[in-house]
Order: sequence, then structure tokens, then C-alpha cells
Amino acid sequence: MTKFVKELLKMNTNKILGASQPPIKLKGTQCVIHQGESLSKHTSYRVGGNAQLYAEPKSWEDIQALFEWIQQQDVPFTCLGRGSNLLVSDQGIEGLVLNTCHFKEYDLDEEDHTITVGAGYPLPTLAWKAAKRGWQGLDWAVGIPGTLGGAVVMNAGAHEGSISDVLVNAVVADSDGTIRTLSRDDLQYAYRASNLQKEKALVLKASLALQPGQSKEKMVNLTTQNFRRRKQTQPYDKPSCGSVFRNPKPQAAGWLIEQLGLKGYQIGGAQVAHRHANFIINSGNAKAQDVFNLIEYVQEKVEQHWSILLHPEVKVLGNFS
Ligand SMILES: Cc1cc2nc3c(=O)[nH]c(=O)nc-3n(C[C@H](O)[C@H](O)[C@H](O)COP(=O)(O)OP(=O)(O)OC[C@H]3O[C@@H](n4cnc5c(N)ncnc54)[C@H](O)[C@@H]3O)c2cc1C
Repeated sequence: MTKFVKELLKMNTNKILGASQPPIKLKGTQCVIHQGESLSKHTSYRVGGNAQLYAEPKSWEDIQALFEWIQQQDVPFTCLGRGSNLLVSDQGIEGLVLNTCHFKEYDLDEEDHTITVGAGYPLPTLAWKAAKRGWQGLDWAVGIPGTLGGAVVMNAGAHEGSISDVLVNAVVADSDGTIRTLSRDDLQYAYRASNLQKEKALVLKASLALQPGQSKEKMVNLTTQNFRRRKQTQPYDKPSCGSVFRNPKPQAAGWLIEQLGLKGYQIGGAQVAHRHANFIINSGNAKAQDVFNLIEYVQEKVEQHWSILLHPEVKVLGNFS
């Protein structure tokens, strides 16, 4: 890390929950790096502190310039989609957060029924678009409030479907600017897991192969049903990260938690949801630390009673006590 960035980060850390610092403009591009951006605005939990550095690249040139800067300054970086699977510490996180919100390319190939979509494209919009063409393969994704990039990394899924079922390939950029096209095999998919959870790379876009030949009406009905079912069974109207724990198959984490009478249990503003025990919601004024403490509490109770260690699906960023 260069002296300049060390100083900058020190200044920024001191003010981490306070006022932001002036933005850094990257020469020769439109790209701006903001300092002290609140991540509670960019995560579905609506909790957490600031990103020390934060950018929303709009083009490949912006990304190249940002990666060059990251290399020069030797700062860590974190990719952000819709923040729907993240718990960010109240103290915020170090380094540069790269938000893919402007990566919304959408290309459709009528002949081989593939769609190529930018990392920042919202998954529910994609599910509706596919359904309205009568293409099968994304009806399960309608209620998952993330981006395509987040889904590729998390192997998002529901109703027996997942992104790994339809993914052809993903184009990723490494921090040295190398672009790679990874096949489904390269991604080593497993339940809610891919090797991109261990590797540091930015998903730029991905291609998905869908099945044509269904009636539009059938696909729209199926997608609507999936969405309704979700709203009936999950606390969709409250800030959360969806399921907190991976299901320790064949058991469901929600069932194990519910049997212990933990629905409604609260620490600070974090609560085990009444509607679904594998959801921890922000009931209004939660701190990230409340959510973290409740995750640990539930994990401990389940382990004590069932001798099963639940593994969080949510990605925890930054420091917690
Ligand atoms: C109400 C609710 C319901 C949910 N239901 C489901 C469900 O049914 N099934 C399910 O699987 N999930 C579900 N989730 C969780 C979440 O929506 C998914 O995990 C989603 O895929 C995360 O996408 P995101 O864009 O929000 O990613 P983020 O939360 O922003 O990031 C998740 C991880 O992916 C990384 N990442 C994001 N974008 C990129 C990129 N372009 N390149 C590299 N890394 C990247 C991040 O660094 C982080 O490690 C739910 C969440 C909520 C709030």
C-alpha cells in the first residue's frame, strides 16, 4: 500500500462513520472514487458502516483504470452487486468497493436460446423477461433480489433450480486486468458455492442457455406462482439477507431453528423472523453487530441441541466483536 493511500485510509478510518472525504478522480476517465460511502444504502439489511473507497464503474475503461489504481496503490477490493447477501460491519470495510450497478448489458440469441447479461443486471427482471418469451430455466429466480454477478458467485437458487443449471460461461476480470472466460466446470459449482467465493475476480457478464418451446402463459404463470409462494412464506417486506444459513441437507436450517422455539427471538434490532426461522430480519433499528450476535446465538443453540454446525450463507464483511 503506498504512503498516499495509507494516509488516506488512516484519515478515512478516523471518520469512518462521519462525513465523507472529497472524491478521487481517475485521470483520463469519467471514473470517480468516493470516500466514506455508507454501505447501509447498498445492502438489503440496511445496516453497516462505510466503504473507505467506493466506485460505480460505467465502462470497461473505468474498470481498467480502477484495477490499475488498485495495483498501484495496493489496496484490497470487494465486489458488490445488490448487497442482498451481505452483512457489513458497523465499522465499515477497508479498501475499494466496486459496485456493478451500471453493468446492465443484455443480448439475446434467438437461434441458440442464450442470453448474455451484464453482472449488474437484476435477477428478477431477467426471470420475467425469459418467462415472457416462453423460455424455461429462470422461473425460480424471480424472488431473488440480487444481480446476475452475485448469482454466479453464490450459485443462487430456489425451487430446485439454480444458476449452475443454466450457466454456459462467465467472463471475469482479475485485478491485474486479465480477462478470462470460465466455463461451468471451471466454476466448480456446489450448493450455494463456486470457486469465485475463494478467488478474487470481478464477474463482468455471463451467458445462460434456456429452453424455448413453452407457452408464454405457462411460464408467466409459473413465475407468478413462485413469486407469490415466496411472499407468503418469507418476510419479504423486511430488510434481510434471505436465508442466513445453508441448509445442512437433508435437514432444513429453518426447521432446526424453529423446533428450538427461536422464532421471534431478538437481540437489539435483529430478530429471527416469525414467518421463516432461517431469516434474521432488521426489525427497524438493528446494528450489524446485533445481526452478527444473533447469527452466533442461533448457531450455538442449534449445535448444542442438534449437534449440527450451521454454516452461514450470508457473506460477512469487516470486523465484528
Ligand atoms: C429477501 C431475500 C430473499 C433471498 N432469496 C434467495 C434465494 O431464494 N436463493 C438464493 O440463492 N439467495 C437468496 N437470497 C440471497 C441473495 O439475493 C443471493 O445470494 C444473490 O445471488 C446475491 O446477489 P447480489 O447481487 O445481491 O450479491 P451481493 O450480496 O452484492 O454479493 C454476494 C457475494 O458475491 C460477490 N459478488 C457480487 N457481485 C459480484 C461480481 N460481479 N463479481 C464478483 N463477485 C461478486 C460479493 O463480493 C459477495 O461475496 C435472498 C436475499 C434476500 C434479501
